[in-house]
Amino acid sequence: MSIATPAPPRSGSFETAQHDQGTEVKKRKKDVAPTTEDRKRFANISYWAIGWLTMAHLIALTAPWTFTWEALAVTLVLHWMAGSLGICLGYHRLLTHTGMKTYSWVRYFFTTIGLLAGEGTPLDWVADHRKHHACSDQEGDPHSPRDGAWWSHLTWLAFHTHNGDRTAYLKRWAPDLYKEKGMRVLDVLFLPAHIAVTGILFAVGYWWQGMDLAISMVVWAMFLRLVTVLHATWLVNSLSHMWGYRNYETTDDSRNNWLVAIVAYGEGWHNNHHAYPRMAKHGHRWWEFDITWQAIRLLRVLGLVWDVVDYRTAAEKKSAEEAKGAT
Ligand SMILES: [Zn+2]
Ligand SMILES: [Zn+2]
Repeated sequence: MSIATPAPPRSGSFETAQHDQGTEVKKRKKDVAPTTEDRKRFANISYWAIGWLTMAHLIALTAPWTFTWEALAVTLVLHWMAGSLGICLGYHRLLTHTGMKTYSWVRYFFTTIGLLAGEGTPLDWVADHRKHHACSDQEGDPHSPRDGAWWSHLTWLAFHTHNGDRTAYLKRWAPDLYKEKGMRVLDVLFLPAHIAVTGILFAVGYWWQGMDLAISMVVWAMFLRLVTVLHATWLVNSLSHMWGYRNYETTDDSRNNWLVAIVAYGEGWHNNHHAYPRMAKHGHRWWEFDITWQAIRLLRVLGLVWDVVDYRTAAEKKSAEEAKGAT
């Protein structure tokens, strides 16, 4: 891995753009709030997130003493479902970037799986991520490594991203989803849904082989799975903005990182993604394997998604369609 280009200055390009755009200056300046400094206040600490993430990590640490092969198998399947189908496909490429069209029930199916990845509600996740794209590695980015590697990976979650007024924040960054009743329902189901899945895993384990497997299922398939998916997603925010190569000269520090691409189901081709955010296909070169893209291709073949953004530009779309028509 190599760093192809030096990082742009802390706020140089952003400020230059502001000076050039007159009245646009005030608008953009207002839109980037709250900044990292604004957020780091005692009153803005998210005790809920700290409690949730600490609990998940502590329970996951008991994994070596609760191992079973059965639970491992269930863990691997749920890891792929939550990480790839829920977060990468559902929350990220479908909800945040609308990289494809689909039926409402399919959209809610993937959103619900995303909810069960423990990364927060769809409204918060989408709002934070859209703001990340709008302010990437500039003032207002919720999780830039320029504010510290650990900050971008984990500690940014210890403070609310909305700085006190969550409704205003969601209306600003995810107005389309905020208007949807279904998304608002899922918003309040975060904790009940996780309690329900924990109960189901415990019950299945107990019914299958008794108390040992019940505990193993909860520790492995629920909490270890949750923690490992979380870190995979967080690596996209941290490592893929620090180490790797660049296919495109974007104004942020995004990198293509093969290790993150493996553990985060294709999301590690992050420089490609920052260059073309709506493109549902994150691997742009032949060796950039993106397993979530393979799932999207399958869904397209099955007729469950359509109008998939698998092109960079209108010209690229046109020539692909012409090539398809010629065969
Ligand atoms: Zn990024
Ligand atoms: Zn994105």
